Amino acid sequence: MTDIEAVIFSEAEIAAAIHRMAAAIARDYLGKTVVLLGVLKGALFVTADLARALESVSADVVVQLDFLAVSSYGNAHRSSGEVRLVQDTSHSIEGKHVLIVEDIVDNGLTLKYLMNLLSGRAPASLRAAVLLDKPYNRRVEVPVAYIGLTCPDEFVVGYGLDYQERYRTLPYVAKLRSEIFTPIGETVAT
Ligand code: 5GP
Repeated sequence: MTDIEAVIFSEAEIAAAIHRMAAAIARDYLGKTVVLLGVLKGALFVTADLARALESVSADVVVQLDFLAVSSYGNAHRSSGEVRLVQDTSHSIEGKHVLIVEDIVDNGLTLKYLMNLLSGRAPASLRAAVLLDKPYNRRVEVPVAYIGLTCPDEFVVGYGLDYQERYRTLPYVAKLRSEIFTPIGETVAT
């Protein structure tokens, strides 16, 4: 695609990372039922692929799926932490082993908001799995139990991540050409 400057993570690299995450999760949740709680819209694909990878690596983990949606104000680079719950889970998480699945963690404010919100609902356990970690600009400490790949400090799109609602369906993670990506204060929907 001509809008892309460079592929940062290929489809094969993403698949391998998800497989590694699934193997680690399967070990930790052996004999349990885990709710993969995907954060829409960005984590749609990673949640689906992680769920299927978990089923394929272990028959001894029962996987349930749920989703919530958040939006946050900020510029196109990262969230401001003013996160808003746009759509809640469809089932109660009380007493359940919940694994939040996120596309990317950058300053950490979105995940922190979710951790605070969900820990107040008395889950049996609460952890986070994130495909892409950008550890360079953290504003809050937030524990991430499972990390897929460490992402360069670039604005990336693809595999669920958008720029102005475009590029989510790319099978790889990529950097946009600078003519396309103009980070001037605007709303980011995760
Ligand atoms: P945080 O709150 O940790 O800064 O970032 C979480 C959210 O910011 C992500 O869910 C995503 O919406 C947005 N974000 C952070 N970095 C990127 C990026 O490189 N590309 C895209 N498309 N969104 C990002």
